[in-house]
Formats: sequence, structure tokens, C-alpha cells
Amino acid sequence: MTSRIVESVLTEAKNHAAKKVLEVHITIGEFTFLNPEQVSFWYGILAKETPMEGSRLVITKKTGVLSCRSCGHLGSTDKDDDPSYHFSTPVFICPNCSQRLEIKEGKECTITKVRLMRS
Ligand SMILES: [Zn+2]
Repeated sequence: MTSRIVESVLTEAKNHAAKKVLEVHITIGEFTFLNPEQVSFWYGILAKETPMEGSRLVITKKTGVLSCRSCGHLGSTDKDDDPSYHFSTPVFICPNCSQRLEIKEGKECTITKVRLMRS
């Protein structure tokens, strides 16, 4: 996941003939199950010896949306502090009708802003 971010930013930098990447803003959906600390760590490693080296990574977490097919219930989760949350895909149950909820939003990881330094 992080390598894809780095690749996209490098392509972007190349397209704009940028000399250096100064800052990268990304939004991580809750259900990507990415740990921002790990993303930062890998980012630092992957950015080495590229125009991205030394750039600042700003991570914003986005709360996901769950929806129920049976009753149309829309909700989010408060499982954020559960330590097991990052290691397995949890199953969410609808509070209204006890059906399994499906993930509607929050599986995406997007680059929202890139600051470049032109030569
Ligand atoms: Zn329901």
C-alpha cells in the first residue's frame, strides 16, 4: 500500500518536472487497516534516494461508513481502540436487525495533496 503511494507521488513529481517533493498529504480510510505509524515508517524507507527523501508525510484518518442491506442502517464503528482491530478484518453487525453490515466507505487510501519544489 505504501509503495503504491510512493510510486504515485514520484510519477506526479516527474510529470511536473519537480526537483524535490516537499510534502505529501494522504487520507487513510478506517477499513484499510493501515497503521499510520507503519505507513510513515515504510514511507521513510521507500523515499530514500528518491526526490521524496526528507519530505513530510501528513496522514489524515477517515472514519468509515457501514451500511446494512436489509434495513438501510448507516453507521460507523467505535472499534478504533481495539488492539486486535489492525490484525483481522472484523465483522460488524447491524444494531437494528443483526444482519452483517457491509463496508460502504473507508477502504480507500488517497493522496490529497502534494507539494513540489520545481527546479
Ligand atoms: Zn439492519
